[in-house]
Amino acid sequence: MFKKILIANRGEIALRIQRACRELGVRAVMVYSEADRDAKYVRLADEAVCIGPAASAQSYLNMPAIISAAEVTDAEAIHPGYGFLSENADFAERVEKSGFQFIGPTPESIRIMGDKVSAKQAMIRAGVPCVPGSEGELPDDPAQIRRIAKSVGYPVIIKAAGGGGGRGMRVVHTEAALINAVAMTKAEAGAAFGNPSVYMEKFLQNPRHIEIQILADSFKNAVYLGERDCSMQRRHQKILEEAPAPGISRKLIERIGERCVAACKKMGYRGAGTFEFLYEAGEFYFIEMNTRVQVEHPVTEMITGVDIVKTQIMVAAGEKLPFTQKQITITGHAIECRINAEDPFKFTPSPGRITTWHAPGGPGVRVDSHIYSNYFVPPYYDSMIGKLIVHGDTREQALARMRTALLETAVEGIHTNIPLHRELMVDAKFMAGGTNIHYLEHWLEQHKR
Ligand code: ADP
Repeated sequence: MFKKILIANRGEIALRIQRACRELGVRAVMVYSEADRDAKYVRLADEAVCIGPAASAQSYLNMPAIISAAEVTDAEAIHPGYGFLSENADFAERVEKSGFQFIGPTPESIRIMGDKVSAKQAMIRAGVPCVPGSEGELPDDPAQIRRIAKSVGYPVIIKAAGGGGGRGMRVVHTEAALINAVAMTKAEAGAAFGNPSVYMEKFLQNPRHIEIQILADSFKNAVYLGERDCSMQRRHQKILEEAPAPGISRKLIERIGERCVAACKKMGYRGAGTFEFLYEAGEFYFIEMNTRVQVEHPVTEMITGVDIVKTQIMVAAGEKLPFTQKQITITGHAIECRINAEDPFKFTPSPGRITTWHAPGGPGVRVDSHIYSNYFVPPYYDSMIGKLIVHGDTREQALARMRTALLETAVEGIHTNIPLHRELMVDAKFMAGGTNIHYLEHWLEQHKR
């Protein structure tokens, strides 16, 4: 096992990784920007290094500064968390070239999955079902593009190969709008992602977002840890997640989980990863793979008892997975609410000083958050300030526990989306389970204020 790890992230995930380090007896080095000097996890760290000013480009995205911090503190490995440099293949490569272990997959795996066209091709080769569409990048010839769209069938969606964060996509309903839409998406993709290549998929009308968590070691052992339902989204951003997915049979999950595991083995994938699928009419369609730990990993930890972050560190240190697929069992139901510093219904960011913070508690309640009373939420980063996770024997019990937890939680001084979560937890359709990816947007439209 490593003696010392550098954590190249901030916020709740920095604290989460630090907790895993403590359990493993590994010393944790934190890097921080000037805006995060007073963060709890910085004070708790074994060592901490300021890597630059508040702006991410000069701190959390500053590769030389992060690698220098690892050098001066004698860290052996770097955990990138999520966001920032976590899916940057060049960073992973520089980390390894500088003699450190990157806690994540190889740069090659990150590169393949980072390009959605090559990711999809790898999945097709590995037998993972994908959304029907163009075989690869769209050609330039308009007649050929029209032919592809006709065979896929309208509506179609044009997506940037280098896209991410819900950007770089355009839905096309008719042939008349097709060529112009492709040109516009190409131009935007070139400007936003430095890669103008686009591809085409059938646009699924009412899918759910279901994803499979996997863990793999360097010895071609891989397991899947069940699924998560992340269909409650606004502008393609998840706001609450749960596991298992209501109403999907274990048989179906096993089948897709086994495909994901086979794909990992075929690719020589190492570390934690998530296969994201759209699920419609009993079928799974791969859309992308995330090659890092995800925000919503705790719901899977709650139902499997597996510590995903600790396992990431163990396999990066060259250990074998400490369990086999047979040893993974699913118990009960878990729900996570992302707590954002924002207006609950208008979604305008609400940074500032938290005057009061009172965390919920009780059986089956977990809080992953770095905030405290008198903490200042900086305006420079993502608005998420923590996550509330509950576990129950049944979905009904988990819902009841989440309602109680949300009632107990007090955040004063800034606005948060807790009032929105409180309403969703008593919404009849959400309570019934199985809402699709458009449900929340429609709900917000109907509950405008
Ligand atoms: P990103 O990397 O930007 O998150 P994804 O490929 O994961 O892009 O897609 C993000 C979201 O866009 C999905 O969760 C879904 O809501 C929508 N989407 C993507 N592809 C399709 C499709 N073929 N049909 C319908 N919706 C889609």
